[in-house]
Amino acid sequence: MKKTGSFLTGLVCPKCGKKYDSRRIQHLCECGSPLLAEYDLKKARAEWKKESVSGRKPDLWRYRELLPVEYEENIVTAGEGMTPLIPLPLLGEKLDVPNLFLKDEGIIPTGTFKARGAAVGVSKAKELGVQTIAMPTNGNAGAAWALYGKRAGLRSVIVMPEDAAKITRNECLAAGADIYLVKGLISDAGKIVARSIARNGWYDASTLKEPYRIEGKKTMGFEIAEQFGWEVPDVILYPTGGGVGIIGIYKALKELQEIGWIGEKLPKLVSVQAEGCAPIVKAFREGKGESEYFTDSRTVAFGINVPKALGDFLVLKAIYETKGCAIDVSDEKILEGVHRLADTEGIFVCPEGGALYAAVARLREEGFIQKDDKVVMLNTGAGIKYPDTIEPNFPYLELDATI
Ligand SMILES: *Cc1c(COP(=O)(O)O)cnc(C)c1O
Ligand SMILES: [Zn+2]
Repeated sequence: MKKTGSFLTGLVCPKCGKKYDSRRIQHLCECGSPLLAEYDLKKARAEWKKESVSGRKPDLWRYRELLPVEYEENIVTAGEGMTPLIPLPLLGEKLDVPNLFLKDEGIIPTGTFKARGAAVGVSKAKELGVQTIAMPTNGNAGAAWALYGKRAGLRSVIVMPEDAAKITRNECLAAGADIYLVKGLISDAGKIVARSIARNGWYDASTLKEPYRIEGKKTMGFEIAEQFGWEVPDVILYPTGGGVGIIGIYKALKELQEIGWIGEKLPKLVSVQAEGCAPIVKAFREGKGESEYFTDSRTVAFGINVPKALGDFLVLKAIYETKGCAIDVSDEKILEGVHRLADTEGIFVCPEGGALYAAVARLREEGFIQKDDKVVMLNTGAGIKYPDTIEPNFPYLELDATI
């Protein structure tokens, strides 16, 4: 069995500091907090050089030394990662942010960045001897875990709101997952999963209830740094639901600092939410360290309809420690953003990604974003996964003699 060279040492609770053995299945800390993977960063600093990464395959496993999988045979991959960082000169001109970029997760397997979390989470589950994974989902995570689960030979049990994007339901079914629909939100699906897990002994793959999905998502942070030549941009905007992506990017950047691959500077991390579901924004405005349950949440951007995230305190920490902010956007502006990215730059983003457009515009107006800032919009998925959400509001041309 060939080792990956991972510097993983174990798991630690970011709230109370208690340590856990990563060679066994672990979920939340006794205190209720999510657990985070820890690495021997001193050793990594001494032994791992950034030059070694540049010649590797363009997928997220190029950073395997800071990923949790210990044996190569357990890696389950469909080529995920190293998504393009695309300059947006035209939109940048319009918004008075000439150095505007889009990191586009729309081209990754399964069409959303959930593939990163699933690839690493499923690989580690396989390494730990798991046979059945179970999770609540708003759709995209369930689809990614069902498909990667199948690659690993695992059984998947997925519970999702019946309003979740139908394509994601079909992906789960196509992958042979057991899928259940609930009338309600992801939080209602979560309660059902929590009950049945205890009864059936399944592996709980709910957001942040297993510690490795975040490790997959953190690779977005590694890639952004590498793609800017091991420097960091000034601002990164991220559409935030459960917050795993933003927590992951922050974790990645701190790890890169500790191994000496980037300097002191960190980008300002900006959490973007929908007005109809903005618990993080509310907590940020009130200067709080945790969010409250956001009642009657609704938004067209289904992936960010999370009324209360388990890792909310980690999202807020990432925002405060990088001098970032949190901002909410109306559904109307979200759809406008999807259209502007398509009709200005020719990129068809998901509604969650569309939310970033209005956020950049407003933060530039307010002076939070400076003209010379390098700004990265993190588009979390492909517009083509939302055939029913995104309807152009203009008519087809008449097919007449002029064509
Ligand atoms: C899940 C999801 C999000 C939110 O991701 P978190 O990292 O959990 O905050 C954003 N966009 C899309 C398309 C998603 O599927
Ligand atoms: Zn704890």
